[in-house]
Amino acid sequence: YELSYRDLRHVMRETVTLLEAQALLHSIELDIQYGEEALWVHGVENQLKQVFINVLKNAIEAMGDGGSIQIVCVREGGDVIVRIQDYGPGIPREQMAKIGQPFYTTKDKGTGLGLMVSYKIVDNHQGNVSVNSTLGSGTTFEISLPYNNPEE
Ligand code: ADP
Ligand code: MG
Repeated sequence: YELSYRDLRHVMRETVTLLEAQALLHSIELDIQYGEEALWVHGVENQLKQVFINVLKNAIEAMGDGGSIQIVCVREGGDVIVRIQDYGPGIPREQMAKIGQPFYTTKDKGTGLGLMVSYKIVDNHQGNVSVNSTLGSGTTFEISLPYNNPEE
């Protein structure tokens, strides 16, 4: 596993590039926002990409056709935060505790492994995932990772 310092803005841009075809197929726009400041994190780039791919795929799958997914990358104190917001149906309250459990899926062809793997990877990076969902209006996944500037 290759540990390195990465600017999360670049990691996210590359991730979005990977998913653009799938989004386009459903007329979904991936709207990414970040500022001028480099968002340094220390970790395994491919694993972090896997996390964002999993969460973004879920967002695309939740949206159906049309609309946009908002991706915001910011530094908040000692953390780098990625917020991924969709305008899908939301997650019912009683399902909230189950998502991320191995094999829990509500999809016909789901594996129920994407979030479990993602939570594990973020945990291994000393980060945190939180979920906010409103039925009928959408879901926001917030992934925070420690800010880690190689020159500080
Ligand atoms: P899978 O995508 O194979 O079902 P995941 O672990 O990625 O497995 O997700 C588990 C479940 O969490 C999904 O089946 C779905 O019910 C729920 N879920 C995850 N992300 C979203 C989202 N953005 N909107 C609505 N439900 C979601
Ligand atoms: Mg999934």
